[in-house]
Amino acid sequence: MSLQFYNTLTRKKDVFVPLDPTNVRMYVCGPTVYDRPHIGNARSVVVYDVLYRLLMQVYGKEHVTYVRNITDVDDKINAAAKANGEPISALTKRIEGWFHEDIGALGVLPATTAITGKETPEQVKGCMGEPHATHHIAHMIDLIEKLIANGHAYVSQGHVLFAVDSYSEYGQLSGRKLDDLIAGARIEVESYKRHPGDFVLWKPAEEGDDASSVFESPWGAGRPGWHIECSAMSNAYLGGQFDIHGGGADLMFPHHENEIAQSRCAQSINGAGTTFANYWVHNGFLTVGGEKMSKSLGNFTTVKELLDKGIKGEVIRLALLSTKYSEPLDWNDKMVHDAKVTLDKWYRSIATVDSHAAVNHDFITTLSDDLNFPKAISVMHTASPAELLAMGRLMGFFDQTAENWFRGGADSGDAHNIENLVNQRIEAKKSKNWTEADRIRKELADQGIILEDRPDGTTDWRKT
Ligand code: AMP
Ligand code: ZN
Repeated sequence: MSLQFYNTLTRKKDVFVPLDPTNVRMYVCGPTVYDRPHIGNARSVVVYDVLYRLLMQVYGKEHVTYVRNITDVDDKINAAAKANGEPISALTKRIEGWFHEDIGALGVLPATTAITGKETPEQVKGCMGEPHATHHIAHMIDLIEKLIANGHAYVSQGHVLFAVDSYSEYGQLSGRKLDDLIAGARIEVESYKRHPGDFVLWKPAEEGDDASSVFESPWGAGRPGWHIECSAMSNAYLGGQFDIHGGGADLMFPHHENEIAQSRCAQSINGAGTTFANYWVHNGFLTVGGEKMSKSLGNFTTVKELLDKGIKGEVIRLALLSTKYSEPLDWNDKMVHDAKVTLDKWYRSIATVDSHAAVNHDFITTLSDDLNFPKAISVMHTASPAELLAMGRLMGFFDQTAENWFRGGADSGDAHNIENLVNQRIEAKKSKNWTEADRIRKELADQGIILEDRPDGTTDWRKT
């Protein structure tokens, strides 16, 4: 079985060869916890969740380590906490809870965290499979010290900066050149930077900063830059070299470019001898009317808003997986409607399955070809019910029974009353009391219950 991914670093589809097939390692940039996740954020999480499931299928569950961090120290967090008038720790805790709630509803598995022994038990306990930036400040300081010692970073006006011109391969991932960075520096370059492309590794605390975002360091009290957070967390759990690094296409530059520069240069002079991550995977944007969905543009829909409208998590998941992961996905109501129709059809099909089939080999081959979701879904449309169940499970679907799916949303008390009415109607039909049968149908319809009479005389019901 050979997996292949489009690798942003080599700009071609590469056959995936893990450094160690008994421990395949993947790092994906997780959320900055300052606001409820929107469906653009969810796309990234769901795409890598399928990749994680595929890796476990191919290499074995015990042989994959997936780290998805929580960025809980960042300028955006400070700004949001200030705007809300709440402490930073309260904000980040609340948003992280929402993140887990929302991605859980989309059937996303928790990430794994390999324990390196560097973590205290309290830190590990607080992880939930996801490292927090605030738990790795010492590691970040350690990397920054190495960068200064190696001549790749300098201290200036209370800041520590990475010197981009000290690393000859800077720009390798995004294809940007240092000269373009100079030309592209539209705004006045901060006086503490030697080169416009230099980026912050550590910044000084400001007057009035919430104490929970201020950390002691050899360069004074302050907080880390965003990029060094991911370099530290990937290093802590996956080591200096690992297999796959993922994230949204917006992170390619500067975030991932800077992660590469820091991680490679901290390990050796000019990065020689280390590759950091070998395969760089980027998911395309979720767009609305062709424009990237983002907090700043205000064109976003949160996962929670959709769930509250009664759209099921699996419907959102299927809609998010309906196109090629690397292409833009323009979100619209039709896509959601089609996903619902498909899942209704699939659940009707698997309702009759009582045995487990292994996942079809061709299906794994299809997914292994740069995560070809559209082709995988088209194969599912023609699969036998038992095969469909196995394929769907691999893609993160069918975590409930068909019965629950069609009756979704009804609590057991509700369901009991509905069952009673359905049975009364069946009795009324048997005694040819059509008026009563129709009255019951209407009573249920008013509660949003749709009945489907079957040829064998039984009646199925579901919520609209
Ligand atoms: P953020 O919380 O803004 O740092 O984003 C978290 C993750 O969501 C990152 O991997 C982003 O690349 C990704 N992301 C943000 N907006 C979108 C979008 N519109 N489409 C796809 N991915 C996105
Ligand atoms: Zn990152």
